[in-house]
Amino acid sequence: MTDFDVLVVGSGIGGLAAAASLAHAGKSVLVVETHERVGGRGSTVEIDGFKVSTGAVALELGGPMEDLFRSVGAPYDVRRPNEPAQCVQFRGRLYNTTSRPARLLIDSGLRRVGRRLTRGWDGPPQGDDPTFEQWLSRFPVGRTVRRLGRNVAAGVFSVNSDEVSARAMLTYVTQKSLFRDYGFPPAGTIGPMQELAAVVERRGGEVWLSSSVQSLDVRDGLVRGASVRRGDEIVTVTCRAVVSNAGPTATIQLCGDSALPADYVSLVKEKVQPAPMFAVTFASRRPVAKPAGIVFFADTERVCALAHLTSACPEVAPPGWHLYVAYAVPVPAMSPFDEDAERAAVLAELDRELDGFGEARILAAPLLAGDWPAQRVVSGCEIDSATPIPNLWNVGDATRAYGDGGLQGCATNGREVSTRVLAYLGRR
Ligand SMILES: Cc1cc2nc3c(=O)[nH]c(=O)nc-3n(C[C@H](O)[C@H](O)[C@H](O)COP(=O)(O)OP(=O)(O)OC[C@H]3O[C@@H](n4cnc5c(N)ncnc54)[C@H](O)[C@@H]3O)c2cc1C
Repeated sequence: MTDFDVLVVGSGIGGLAAAASLAHAGKSVLVVETHERVGGRGSTVEIDGFKVSTGAVALELGGPMEDLFRSVGAPYDVRRPNEPAQCVQFRGRLYNTTSRPARLLIDSGLRRVGRRLTRGWDGPPQGDDPTFEQWLSRFPVGRTVRRLGRNVAAGVFSVNSDEVSARAMLTYVTQKSLFRDYGFPPAGTIGPMQELAAVVERRGGEVWLSSSVQSLDVRDGLVRGASVRRGDEIVTVTCRAVVSNAGPTATIQLCGDSALPADYVSLVKEKVQPAPMFAVTFASRRPVAKPAGIVFFADTERVCALAHLTSACPEVAPPGWHLYVAYAVPVPAMSPFDEDAERAAVLAELDRELDGFGEARILAAPLLAGDWPAQRVVSGCEIDSATPIPNLWNVGDATRAYGDGGLQGCATNGREVSTRVLAYLGRR
C-alpha cells in the first residue's frame, strides 16, 4: 500500500503520539523511521545484555503521557523506583525531595509561592527577560542553591541557568510535574514506544523501519506525498496530510528551500538552536551512589543528574549488575566549547561524586548534539506546530507547548497535532 491519509516522518514520541491517535481515530497512517527501531531519542539499544537508552529513561506517571496510552488502548508498563524517587545530593548526603514533608514544602509551599511570584509572566519569554541565573541573583541565596538551580535547568532543559530565561524555567518548575511521579520501563524506553507503534499496525496502518523520507512533494501549496527510501527501493507515497517528527529544520529541507516562505525559514533558523548533553551510561557490580531513583546534584558544575535504572527494573541489566545513567551539560552549552575538555571534566566530576565510579564499566558516553541533540530548542523558543503549508505540521520537542518538557511535552504536542490533522481532513 502506498496511499495513506497521513504520513508521519519519524517515530520519536511526538510522531508516535500523533500516529497512534490518528490511527485510533480511524485514519490510515504510515510511519517512516530511519533507524531499525522506533522511539528516536526515547528508545533503547542492547549493549552486552544491558539496555542502554538513546536518550530518555524516566517516564512520567499519572499525567498527559499516561493518559495518551490509555486513550489509544496501549499498555503503559512503567515502574516506580523501589528507592526514594527523587533526591538532592549535597556534600555526599542525600535529601529526599519526594518524602511527605518535602512534598508538602515543595508542592504546597515553594511552588505556590513561585506561582504567585510569576503570575504576571504569561506567555513565552520576551527579549529583555532576565535569565534564570540573573533572576536567582536577586535573592540572598548561596552558591549551593544557585548550583542546584543550574542543575535542574541542565537536567530538564540541557542548558546552564544563564542560558535560559527565568520566565520559561519558572513556568516549568511551578506549573509542570517536575518528574515528581515517574518510573522506568522494564523493557527499556523502547517498550512503551513499541506499544504505540503496535496501535498504528493494529488499526491497519504501517510502520516502515530502516526507511527514510527523502523529500516531500509540495505542489500547488500542499504536500501531495513523499519519496521514501525503503531498503534498496525508492517508493513514492501519496497522502492527504504529513506530520513531521524530524525537527523543523529538517522538515524545511525535505520540502525544498523554495517551498516555504522566507520569513518562516528565518524564524526556524533563529529559534531552533539545539542544546547539547553528555549521557554517560555505566554499570557497576556494587552501588556507586546512595539509594535513589533520580539524584540531582547540588555541588557540581557540569553533572546535573543521575538515574539508577536497576532500582526499579533489574531486568535492564544482567544479574548482579547495577545500571546507571548520568547526565551532564557543558559550560557553556549554547556557544562553542571544547568537547574533549568538557568530557574530561564530566568524568572527573563523576569520579569525585560517586564512590566506585572509577571501577565502573562505561557502556556509552555520547555527546548528544547537532541533529541528535538533547533538546531541539532552548525552552521558551518553541515554535508553533503549524507550518505555512496547510497540510504539514511539525511535532516533537521544538514545537511542544511553551513551558513544557521531556517526553511528556512531546506526547502532548503529538496528540494536539492529531486533533488539528483530523479537523483538516474533516474539512476536506
Ligand atoms: C540524554 C537525554 C536524556 C533525556 N531524558 C529524558 C527523560 O528521562 N525523561 C523525559 O521525559 N525526557 C527525556 N529526554 C527528552 C526526550 O528524550 C525528548 O524530548 C524526546 O525523545 C524527543 O522526541 P521527539 O518527538 O522530538 O522525536 P525524536 O526523538 O527526535 O525522534 C525523531 C525521529 O525521527 C526520525 N527521522 C528524522 N528524519 C527522518 C526522515 N527523513 N525519515 C524517517 N525518519 C526520520 C529519527 O530517526 C528519530 O527516530 C531526554 C533527552 C536526551 C537526549
